[in-house]
Amino acid sequence: MSPSPVFSDLSPAEVWQHFATLCAIPRASKQEAALRAHLQDWAAQAGISAEVDAAGNLLLLSPASPGCEQVPGVILQAHLDMVCQKNSTSPHDFSRDPIQPVLRDGWLVADETTLGADNGIGVALILAALSDRTLRRGPLEALLTVDEEAGMGGARGLSPDRLKGRLMLNLDTEAWGEFYLGCAGGMDVDIRRDGEPEPLPAGWTVCEIALRGLRGGHSGVDIHEERGNAIKLMVGVLHDLAAHVPYRLVSLRGGTARNALAREAFATLAFPEALDLSDWLAGQQAGLREHLRGIEAQLSLSITPASARDMLGAEEQFVWLASLHAAPHGVRRMSRQVPGVVETSNNLGMVDLQPAGGSCNFMVRSLVDRGAEALADEIVSLFALGVRNHRCALSGAGYRFLRADHSWRTCAGRAGGGCLGWRLLALAAQCIERARSRLIFPESQRSTAGLPGFSAQRPRMASQRASPSLLERSSFWAKAGKSRPRRARSSLA
Ligand SMILES: [Zn+2]
Repeated sequence: MSPSPVFSDLSPAEVWQHFATLCAIPRASKQEAALRAHLQDWAAQAGISAEVDAAGNLLLLSPASPGCEQVPGVILQAHLDMVCQKNSTSPHDFSRDPIQPVLRDGWLVADETTLGADNGIGVALILAALSDRTLRRGPLEALLTVDEEAGMGGARGLSPDRLKGRLMLNLDTEAWGEFYLGCAGGMDVDIRRDGEPEPLPAGWTVCEIALRGLRGGHSGVDIHEERGNAIKLMVGVLHDLAAHVPYRLVSLRGGTARNALAREAFATLAFPEALDLSDWLAGQQAGLREHLRGIEAQLSLSITPASARDMLGAEEQFVWLASLHAAPHGVRRMSRQVPGVVETSNNLGMVDLQPAGGSCNFMVRSLVDRGAEALADEIVSLFALGVRNHRCALSGAGYRFLRADHSWRTCAGRAGGGCLGWRLLALAAQCIERARSRLIFPESQRSTAGLPGFSAQRPRMASQRASPSLLERSSFWAKAGKSRPRRARSSLA
């Protein structure tokens, strides 16, 4: 196959030749066989041993360079498949047609389709490193997984005894100058209870209180910012209201996703007699804004008339509201090993209470599996306690752990400590800095890659564009186009 001429001027040539190959051979998820066979042939010619495991992953092994036999081996990992998306007008067939890369304004892009830089550039970098005879290094293993984008089939099917190295670098991230040294694991605590609807007595009035305007966010990224959780705030409002007037709960809904901070919550309430709550609510709104000053300036509380036939039983209402009121949300513990990083947290992401039953979901995360399990257990105990004290009907009540992802950490050491992971991070930071100094960033956007948390000053996305003159230079960092798929996707219809 003859690679696209687009690559002829790019350097390092070795990396871009491999990327050209990846563009030329279709590689949708679960359809990586042709590319894998091609890479096995390439490895055979390059004197690199290759094997394919039961899940279809390709494992390549290049021995240590002379004199480095005692150096610890490193595993480099990337995935062979790519996200296949195209504009509705494109006739492109991802099972058959090569990607057509073009250079535009210093960016390598694909017309009408995703480029496949995720994770093609990672694969290309690994292949170039494997065959580079000038590197002095210990043994290098390449783990090129399949089916990452459509269910992680390759990673899930990998048998750990296949790999010899004890340090693995995953080359599938997209933020310039950022390295991940660990990942939180997590579990979902899903609480469900059946209820007995109670008919609304004649003459009662019904209205809906809405809490809106919160910033929301991702529970894995923004949990430490102390943003408002609409569910927790609404339950607090209902708790205060109960001290003033009797009411019965018709429904409570809040949040839309288990991993998103709830932006809105809606409570429908029934009252024995008509009353005007607007002043009281205005006071609540002012109090909440004061409590969240500088964080949630747009928070609003409003009330509108509503209608209903049934409401929750009185004890169900008490158990749910008391348990939700006491339930944890937010940061439980900061890491003592990685300063400034949340160790354990949970997000009360969704609640839906109706007269016939209700549910809520807590997503618990922790860098330490034990931390996630302990917090999840506490949440379950909290709801179990509510049930026992109030002798609610237990039929259908319960909880389940929906899913558990295990956490991982490169090592337990602190920044600057002697462990391999931190030493490698320091080395990577130096490489980034060296590459960055060769780029023509405006002075104001240069940053130093200190440790830890050197992402704080990283250049913004716009500065990752490489000027045409830069393309002759040897920095592939800026041209790797890892941010490209995101752009390409956002431009798709
Ligand atoms: Zn990826």
